[in-house]
Amino acid sequence: MNEQLGRKGANLAEMAGLTLPVPPGFTITTSACRRFYEEGKKIHPLIEQEIYNALGLLEETTGRRFGHPENPLLVSVRSGSSTSMPGMMDTVLNLGMNDYTVSALAKQNRLTHFAYDSYRRFIQMFSSIVLGVDSDLFEDELEKTKEIAGVTQDSQLNNEQLLDLIVTFKDIVYQETGQKFPQDPRQQLLMSIGAIFGSWYNNRAMIYRRIHKIPNHIGTAVTIQQMVFGNLGPNSGTGIAFTRHPSTGDDNLFGEFMFNAQGEDIVAGIRTPHSLDILRQKLPAVYDEFEQVAIQLERHYHDVQDIEFTIEEGKLYILQTRSAKRTAEANIKIAVDMANEGLITKEEAMLRVDPASLSPLMQHTIDPEADLEVLGYGLEASTGAATGIIVFDAEEAERQHRTGHSVILVRQETTPEDIHGILASAGVLTTRGGVTSHAAVVARDLGTPSVVGCESFKVDMKQRQLITDSTVLHEGDMITICGSTGRVILGEVPLVPPKFSQEFRTLLSWANEYKTLEVHSSVNTPQEAELAARMGAEGVGLCRTELMFMDPERLPIVTQMILAPTKRDRRKALNKLIPMQKSDFCGIFRAMEGKPVTIRLLDPPLHEFLPNPSQLAIEIERARVAGDIELLTEKEALQKRISVLHELNPSFGHRGCRIGITYPEIYEIQTRAIAEAALQLKSQGILVYPNIIVPLVSDWREMKAVKENVTEALEQVFSVYRDRIDIPVGAFIELPRACMTADKMAQYADFFTFGTNDLTQSTYGFSRDDAEGKYLAYYLDHKILPENPFVVLDEEGVGQLITYSIQQGLMQNPNLRLGVCGDHTSEKNSVLFLQNTGLHFISCLPPRIPAARLAAAQAAI
Ligand code: ADP
Ligand code: MG
Ligand code: MG
Repeated sequence: MNEQLGRKGANLAEMAGLTLPVPPGFTITTSACRRFYEEGKKIHPLIEQEIYNALGLLEETTGRRFGHPENPLLVSVRSGSSTSMPGMMDTVLNLGMNDYTVSALAKQNRLTHFAYDSYRRFIQMFSSIVLGVDSDLFEDELEKTKEIAGVTQDSQLNNEQLLDLIVTFKDIVYQETGQKFPQDPRQQLLMSIGAIFGSWYNNRAMIYRRIHKIPNHIGTAVTIQQMVFGNLGPNSGTGIAFTRHPSTGDDNLFGEFMFNAQGEDIVAGIRTPHSLDILRQKLPAVYDEFEQVAIQLERHYHDVQDIEFTIEEGKLYILQTRSAKRTAEANIKIAVDMANEGLITKEEAMLRVDPASLSPLMQHTIDPEADLEVLGYGLEASTGAATGIIVFDAEEAERQHRTGHSVILVRQETTPEDIHGILASAGVLTTRGGVTSHAAVVARDLGTPSVVGCESFKVDMKQRQLITDSTVLHEGDMITICGSTGRVILGEVPLVPPKFSQEFRTLLSWANEYKTLEVHSSVNTPQEAELAARMGAEGVGLCRTELMFMDPERLPIVTQMILAPTKRDRRKALNKLIPMQKSDFCGIFRAMEGKPVTIRLLDPPLHEFLPNPSQLAIEIERARVAGDIELLTEKEALQKRISVLHELNPSFGHRGCRIGITYPEIYEIQTRAIAEAALQLKSQGILVYPNIIVPLVSDWREMKAVKENVTEALEQVFSVYRDRIDIPVGAFIELPRACMTADKMAQYADFFTFGTNDLTQSTYGFSRDDAEGKYLAYYLDHKILPENPFVVLDEEGVGQLITYSIQQGLMQNPNLRLGVCGDHTSEKNSVLFLQNTGLHFISCLPPRIPAARLAAAQAAI
């Protein structure tokens, strides 16, 4: 009943059903929350009555009464929605305390200190969450009292000092709200429930929902639960545990524990807790019991659990369980391990890993050989390395991020209010708190590298300095953090490419068993082709030839070619390029031995190969001043040519097959280089499967013209070499007209590759570079568009065009090969759609191949 009870409430009920030791309580549904908003933020009298009925039952079950002067019931009032939003909404503890019940609590537990301390905490928590009093007012008083008492820990205050503090706290409430601190527990309860319903729309919860795409209307449930106390002395305490390690996936109970503390103390990162070992040493029987519960919960939910528990005088209570947030690395290991253990199936294991989550694993890590100046060590909270400038608050993080800086957010501890800053940061470093602290949880969730609890460092917010053991760093200084080893390092550091874990490789091999789409890669150079082959590419789906032209050694020849006054001169320059292109093609064919390689003929407009006009103007001035007439003439000719080639709208300009048609010798020469390279390797016994693709065709007559040109060039090479090789010639489909005339296109094209990036641009008429920076963000925020169409394929428009052309194309030629190139090919929803259109292959950049393989497997399951 997640939707009605929220995750927390539903899981508490489920655990109670499993007869685990859960304190008794009841849950108010999310419908009641929605009703609360419908009624203009009021609890409906009928719901109020139901709450009192349930409270009556709770009193019966516990044998305690709300507000009873001798045997009072104290409860926690906890929020929880159907999608977990850790720490985003509020929880009130120790509710039911007042001037009378505090002495009952003192007597019952024979612990006056504990009772006063709980009351003091309750006033503070209730007043800030429910009454909206600034929490700092209480904190300041607390600090002052400690200073006067000459102690450093809250727990060192004596009874009298605590009592004084309670009086002061109540005064603050009166001054701030004009009301006395509410003494009636029922009133306290109703007010808290209202406040928790109200916290659904607080700022940080709204931001969290926006990032995680959680709908706004669902609302939160509220669970009322009998309090248990982890702060009753040395046999009490509180902890958070993961059934497996949330960073590495290691299959061992992992967690943190604090003696004599309440739950919030760990999460808030106020004290740095101990590892669970301390519990095993001091209270071994309780530890064993807890371990059994952990195993039971994991088996029950078939997933790693994140468990909150409290021990009251040696008795274990489970307060929460949920599926643990974890790093991508841990997620993979856990999924594969669980499948191997038989806890889940292979299919489930694959479906549990979001292809998008793989990108941090493709990141580089710190070179183990590098000479580093390590400033200190903290706890490994979220894996990966990050380099950036130090910033000390969330606002500054956002500001610097906006101006293009990579930032490391450095804080004593983070609070939920910092979330927008964490989002803007490449890494997070805190000096306090453990791996279950807020900073750590959020960073892991976002895949942001993080080191926490770096206790030997000090953050001085006044001077805006980070004081390490050896040096003092200022805002704007460069540091590097390594969330996999906990190291904090001065400056930038050398990085090395990623290594895949055994489990990752296993998962990808499973993906190959299941997927039906071929996964190809888009590469530009032989080196990239080698990388792609290592990542498991089954071919090259797109090899761009223009980057080969950009090589500084070749560029002068390319310039000559462009400037050539006659066809003869142009051919002369092009002939010089043949051996160079040929050697590149040979390298790529070799790396992809036995696999198809699709090479795209020249696509960009020619002016892209010419110098920048303002740079050129300066050079002309220099030549003029120096009186170098020869140089001047040359540069001026160049300038003239550039102005002739200048276009108002280059993306719709003289490019793609339009170049190949107006300068047929360019495509002819490229074709010769491809065919010669292929035949040369063939003669050495190396299997090659070259394909040629023609860019930016809009009309089938263009395709026809280029095909004839290419075929002629191929035949020439074949006759010279006295050997042949099959080289299909396909159309790169990136314009709507090409889609709409696919049947005619298929008469001349042996295959189609859809370029979804450009097809999206030309279908929407959006220029991607401008759109993403300008209106697209607004469109997404205001739900004008459901998704960024450059990230998730637009099925309604672009998808329809693809589907239509495939149908038309196959009608003309049932053997037509079909593929897609573009950023959509590793996004799971887009791949699912593409799978259903009946394509044969998808092609992506080398680092995205694992994601594409996994997405293809998921699409096939
Ligand atoms: P969150 O969603 O922020 O985790 P919770 O409702 O889980 O909020 O409450 C925060 C902490 O308060 C818990 O970790 C737990 O330790 C403590 N807590 C909640 N309810 C109780 C209770 N009935 N008895 C003792 N501690 C509690
Ligand atoms: Mg919390
Ligand atoms: Mg909790």
